[in-house]
Amino acid sequence: MNALVFGDRSVRQIGRAHAERVLSFRFGLQRSRIKRELSRVIAPTRTGSSTPEMIRLPTGGVIPIFQDLSGPGGSETTDGTRSAVTEDGDELVLSYDIWKEVGSSLLGSRGPPLSQGVGLESDWTMLSVDLQIQILFRWLQDSRGLDFVPEPWPGGGTFAMGLSHDVDRIRKTYQYITHPIRHLIRGEFQLALDSIIPDPKAYWRFDEIREVEARKGVRSTFFFLPGESDFETLSPLHRLRLWGVSTFRSDKLRSVMKDLAHNSWEVGLHSSINARRNQRLLSSEKAKLQSIVNQEVQGVRQHFLSPEITELWSAQKEAGFAYDSSMGFADRVGFRAGSCYPYETPLADFWELPFEVMDGALPDSGEYSKNRCRGLVDQVVDLAGAFVVLWHQRYFSARDFGGYGELYLELIDFAKTRGGWVAPCGEIVREWRRRTL
Ligand SMILES: [Zn+2]
Repeated sequence: MNALVFGDRSVRQIGRAHAERVLSFRFGLQRSRIKRELSRVIAPTRTGSSTPEMIRLPTGGVIPIFQDLSGPGGSETTDGTRSAVTEDGDELVLSYDIWKEVGSSLLGSRGPPLSQGVGLESDWTMLSVDLQIQILFRWLQDSRGLDFVPEPWPGGGTFAMGLSHDVDRIRKTYQYITHPIRHLIRGEFQLALDSIIPDPKAYWRFDEIREVEARKGVRSTFFFLPGESDFETLSPLHRLRLWGVSTFRSDKLRSVMKDLAHNSWEVGLHSSINARRNQRLLSSEKAKLQSIVNQEVQGVRQHFLSPEITELWSAQKEAGFAYDSSMGFADRVGFRAGSCYPYETPLADFWELPFEVMDGALPDSGEYSKNRCRGLVDQVVDLAGAFVVLWHQRYFSARDFGGYGELYLELIDFAKTRGGWVAPCGEIVREWRRRTL
């Protein structure tokens, strides 16, 4: 499978196009108008650096910039950070290459991984891309006199919340052994006892999810995994781990898929591990899913989120998907691309919709996690962005994942109190695309 190689030019282009779209969306203005205004933004070309330079934003706060800022430009402030922006007549002069910075973050290359000890946890809970675009937003508003639309999403939504479920396990199997052990280690004795009780429907929560979502008047996206793609090629030990995994061969599951699709839930593909290296397999997984639900499938999210998300875009586009929603973390919450808006990849009309929080990445389903999520949602509300939630369908099993079902519903309620528009992922991408062309 061909990996995409991005030259500096395409990195800048994706950054600039994204900034134009975000601004055109927020102001409710044609992109051509925004383009004209942005021709007054002066940003020098810089070389990339793996050591972050801290930039003080005129809109408040400090963010890391992965560019070499030594030499002229960007006067040093007393605390060792640099001021990045000055106004000169009707021009906005930046001391760094904003387009390149934005573009490389969207391509998932924002600095070295955390494990190397350079990035800070706080970098990932910071909308570093959007905070930079916010510099342009404020300048257009204050110095160029542009008015903005305060409720840009459908129905006057102040922001969007995307709901999604990855369906990778549909039957509880060896977890009857591993879950009680995990609970015992954590000192959760009641949960340990509960999770031993045999329940053939423990990991079959489709009815419950549909019911609670319908009650709230919302719909979500279900990404279904064709587990059989991986099953056939793996070692016996790996096969054991796949015991109980979702498969398109299951009559019961196929009937759920059809039913969801026919009742306006979105059905997407949770592409298999083998499909990462196999374009034909990816296309055939999509074709199978489409023949089951008798609909075009627009969205894809890969199983076990690979770190190399951008390398899969070309195969996904080739297979005919409209968007991917894998840009998020499996081990922490936050903003992996630094932006909370959908964005066009370097491939024309193929979109990435980042997700912000996955059930398993939270330490628990209690108050701490609830407040953590709320804090992230509030950052997205301020920027009228999209907050995407990933809740595995098995996490609605109260005996195994106590409190997660409730937390999911609380997030929906919280979105509504903040004036959010709640929708499946594909609808968010569609609205974004339509409003920012
Ligand atoms: Zn998965």
